Amino acid sequence: MEIYVHFPFCVSKCRYCDFYSIPCGSPRDDEISKNCIAAILKELDARADELKNKETTSIFVGGGTPTILSCKELEMLVTGLQSRLNISLRKRRVDDPGVETKGFISSNEKSKVEDHTTGKESAGIEFTIECNPGTLNREKLSLLKNLGVNRLSIGLQSADNRELAALGRIHTYEEFLTNYEEARKTGFDNINIDLMSGIPGQTVASCEKTLNTVAGLAPEHISVYSLILEEGTPLFDDVEAGRVRLPDEDFDRDMYRLTGQILSAHGYERYEISNYAKPGHRCRHNMGYWTGEEYLGLGPAAASYLGTGDALCRETLAASCLGTGDVLCSETLAVSHLGTVDSLCRESLVNSNPKCSSKDTLPTVMYRYKNPADLMAYMADPAGVRVLEETLDRKALMSEYMILRLRLTEGAERDEFKKRFGTPMDEAFGDVIRKYIGLGLMEEREGCVALTPKGLDVANSVMCEFI
Ligand code: SF4
Repeated sequence: MEIYVHFPFCVSKCRYCDFYSIPCGSPRDDEISKNCIAAILKELDARADELKNKETTSIFVGGGTPTILSCKELEMLVTGLQSRLNISLRKRRVDDPGVETKGFISSNEKSKVEDHTTGKESAGIEFTIECNPGTLNREKLSLLKNLGVNRLSIGLQSADNRELAALGRIHTYEEFLTNYEEARKTGFDNINIDLMSGIPGQTVASCEKTLNTVAGLAPEHISVYSLILEEGTPLFDDVEAGRVRLPDEDFDRDMYRLTGQILSAHGYERYEISNYAKPGHRCRHNMGYWTGEEYLGLGPAAASYLGTGDALCRETLAASCLGTGDVLCSETLAVSHLGTVDSLCRESLVNSNPKCSSKDTLPTVMYRYKNPADLMAYMADPAGVRVLEETLDRKALMSEYMILRLRLTEGAERDEFKKRFGTPMDEAFGDVIRKYIGLGLMEEREGCVALTPKGLDVANSVMCEFI
């Protein structure tokens, strides 16, 4: 289970941003921040049941700008999450169980992440905090490090100050650099830098310069997303009124290729359409999103993606597997619980109930929820107003599996698909796969189907056909 925390304050609103964030003019240390943190922790307390029997694999505190908080508030948030998730400050290296290093480990010590110093798997979880230059300082960085936060994700967007101003960012490249160097001195050895392409005024040369400059700093991870023009933002209005021009689609496509070439020359592996990592430093939290792991979102506007609960599963089973009584279901559910319930149920049912002879008869069901994008409503009742946004049945999950996996350079694995859904991939999507292989946009690769470099250029159109 992954945990995402949405902290909804920023110093000011960037011109392109449509995330739920409240501009508040300056760093925080006030009642409303403390109340918001208290509400987030209260929500986690109230959702304890959803975490039962599940291991926390990663925590991502994003927003908004969490580093807008004062040291005292950051400590309240981080330690509050730690204690509730039963996470201690110790981390043991698998290759040397006697050596304790800083970092988090879930209490049962089963969670695994790659050890960034040895490249081996080690016990511990990934704990990321999203930071924005202009809200970081040495004191906060030391505190976060000492609390055991082991990954920073810094929103830079561009190394060109004119482009940063066009985006309405609050910082300059120089401010970012000071924070970055400070973070390294503090001992952070797993840092992501967010960049953006398609910024107003961006040229091939300026984009190239940003990529080379940032890659030259050797962060462990770089994300490069295209600017998306969102209705209702100041940038949208400017573009609509002709006051600002955005680079065209061809520019974006060229930049996409150039980004891959430049970052690969600096030793980064593209592992997802917009994400690049040094070996052993893929973002575990985001990998969870792309591989269909459950996640619990806390805070206003946070989204959750959760599997079938006991009651829902029982309903599903009753509806889809005639003759299966509550006794069998209860036993099965008692050992399986959320997330893994489908495969376990399927096995038990197939083995024990002759009427349930086909593995295909059992759907997998997942639910997407969202907390209200309204701070006051959220704080008034932190766990009471989650809205069910989408129910994903087996068919929808098969589509989602393909769409998310095709974002990854490895692609969609045939064996895993069959194991997960009880159906060969070709039975569900053979026509589409054959069509795109024929067009040179997809290819077979070591038991997987993946997009080719040509296919990555038109990824969205290809993915649409899996819906
Ligand atoms: S810092 Fe991030 S969340 Fe805050 S306004 Fe800018 S883009 Fe939005």
